Amino acid sequence: MRLNTEICVVGSGFAGAIIASRLVDAGYSVTLLERGPWRNTLPLASSGITQGSPFPRGVKLFTQLLRTLHHPKLPFKSLTFSKKGLFEYGVYKGVNTICSSGVGGGSHVYGALIERSPNKEYWNGISDSLNEEMMDAHYQRVESELLAISPSSVSNIPNYTPDKWKDSNIFNVSDEVPQPSMGLLFPDHSSSEKPSTDDQIKRKASRYKGDSTFGSPSGAKGTVDFLYLIPALKKGLKVLDMHEVKCLRKLEDGGYTIDAINHRTNKPLAINCNQVILAAGTMNTTRLLFQSRASGGLQGMPMLGQGFGSNGDYSALWELQDTERDYRQGTPCHGRVAIPGTPKEPNYVLGGVDIPSLPRWVPGFIRTPVNRQKHNLLLIGMGADAADGEFTFHKNKLSLTYNQKNSPIFEQIREGFKQVSKASGKPVRYGYKAVTVHPFGGAIIGTDERSGVINSNGEVYGHPSLFVADGSALPKAVGGPPSLTIGAWSSHVAEQIIKNYPASQKAVKLMAGYDLVGNTLVAKSFKELDSLFAALPSPTSLDVDGHYWGKLLVTRGLTLAPFFIRRPLICAFEKILFLNWKGKSFSGKKGINLFKSYEKPKKALPFKVGLELSHDGSGQVVQLDYNIEKNPKKFRKISGEARQLNESEWLAKMYYGNKNWLYYILKK
Ligand SMILES: Cc1cc2nc3c(=O)[nH]c(=O)nc-3n(C[C@H](O)[C@H](O)[C@H](O)COP(=O)(O)OP(=O)(O)OC[C@H]3O[C@@H](n4cnc5c(N)ncnc54)[C@H](O)[C@@H]3O)c2cc1C
Repeated sequence: MRLNTEICVVGSGFAGAIIASRLVDAGYSVTLLERGPWRNTLPLASSGITQGSPFPRGVKLFTQLLRTLHHPKLPFKSLTFSKKGLFEYGVYKGVNTICSSGVGGGSHVYGALIERSPNKEYWNGISDSLNEEMMDAHYQRVESELLAISPSSVSNIPNYTPDKWKDSNIFNVSDEVPQPSMGLLFPDHSSSEKPSTDDQIKRKASRYKGDSTFGSPSGAKGTVDFLYLIPALKKGLKVLDMHEVKCLRKLEDGGYTIDAINHRTNKPLAINCNQVILAAGTMNTTRLLFQSRASGGLQGMPMLGQGFGSNGDYSALWELQDTERDYRQGTPCHGRVAIPGTPKEPNYVLGGVDIPSLPRWVPGFIRTPVNRQKHNLLLIGMGADAADGEFTFHKNKLSLTYNQKNSPIFEQIREGFKQVSKASGKPVRYGYKAVTVHPFGGAIIGTDERSGVINSNGEVYGHPSLFVADGSALPKAVGGPPSLTIGAWSSHVAEQIIKNYPASQKAVKLMAGYDLVGNTLVAKSFKELDSLFAALPSPTSLDVDGHYWGKLLVTRGLTLAPFFIRRPLICAFEKILFLNWKGKSFSGKKGINLFKSYEKPKKALPFKVGLELSHDGSGQVVQLDYNIEKNPKKFRKISGEARQLNESEWLAKMYYGNKNWLYYILKK
């Protein structure tokens, strides 16, 4: 399938969600591609999106925890276990990396810590056109959009570091150790009055358990899917989940083609667009640029792969075995601590080992030691590293080389670990190799193409209209939790695009290029129709009035039958079960079905017509809602969704509850 849109955003984490939302607000037609699924949460369900995937809990903890493992010893250096998996783990030379997958990206798994870099001069000196002062407005805006709250203003938080460790000599948690803000809906704080940016989106306040690394199903943790993307969907954003971008190709007459793979159908999708924004996270934006250059789609970028950093991330398990406490309780991260007698620079935070409860069938010899971890704590250090790691790309595979010895921060953190072990009398266990959850660099900002891949607007040198909005752009370590800084950068890139590339006067909707005529869809499978429906333009106004003839395309249950049997079965189905259904008539916010039985045309089964979000989360649809008193009770669970195929035809699907049962065409 080939589509056209104005702007394509790749990835839906902090960077992708923020930039997509800014650009939709400014009137651009934006399509966002995300390789993972929407994640089932209360905010998502309350918005009408029901086709997400659960977080890894219960059996899914085994089947959907890991998406992809990169390891140099694997046959193709990487193995994808589940396209719906939550984490991607990379084993590289000198460092391991963790990032996540799914609509909302890292915001689902992050510790909810939101703060600026401890380096007050972070943006100064990178380029003449960037400085702290100009970035300040972006920080302030993103901070308020992420609904960051200072936990110091909330009482009775279990295991909160300033309370738990105030009388201990192991840590300093006095006021001189500033506590980060948190993107969490606290139970007893006035923030509960402003639960989200959209009134219809529901969230539950945190119960101080289960909002951490494995996702927050209640929406207590503020994630960018509902803070940015759902409101943007209502303004015309198109989101294609389970679509992984494989390569970019620059077009001769300007613009780019994006080659993606639809993981639901395993079919390729190509999108032509004027601007591309890469927000696939440090590891994957770098990989994508390398892949595109290797396949000839992009050229140049001599600095690609340089400047990788790990933010000095270094974690240890502090085996406290404090059986009186369950350290999984509390905020996703318990807060900052300083270790007396050690240098000020490493930034330490404490957190519980928040593994969801294992299913009962898991043998005791596994379950017991895992459950025991609730009495232990994770001690995580971070700070500015040398940012001198290097990505290389060979035979379609990404490699990374990083030498910890070049960054004194690791030795300093190790000293801190030893100090805690000594002061507490309990073991602090850590490996030599650091694991980072905050990778950055690879496509860094520079003053020209010899010092960076992108300029201070985020635009790739030599490739106008191609932008990098995520962590791969950062040329130095944030030294603390980086998401706010990444969000501020993405907000800055959006501002530059709006300034330099005005939105088309003629809105370019996501339009399929060819052969979208109803009668060509008869032989398509359910999955193919699902994908086509997701890619069709999202209506932004109700413009459907008129009489339409209807024709059933496919119904669930008959999809396995060969086509030559399926067609007659569908015709019989239409006649018998659908009582000779002929079509629909729409007038404003009302609609009615048209039947022809016993030679007499009949009108029945009225429905309400409105603009709502689609169940699949791809954007708005014209919704047909049968939940009205006039209809028999059993029909009230029916709803329909429709999007326009061409001037005279609409593709529609029918749901019973949350289950999509059939597709049909409406023709004027
Ligand atoms: C366990 C953990 C805890 C953390 N805690 C904190 C914290 O408390 N505070 C903080 O500031 N930071 C924290 N972080 C870091 C934070 O999550 C990241 O810095 C942040 O998510 C990076 O944002 P991003 O937009 O650059 O990338 P991501 O958020 O990683 O988003 C990238 C998205 O792109 C998608 N993608 C990748 N490749 C493709 C492709 N080819 N096609 C389509 N889509 C693609 C991915 O699936 C992903 O959804 C934590 C990270 C982890 C793993």
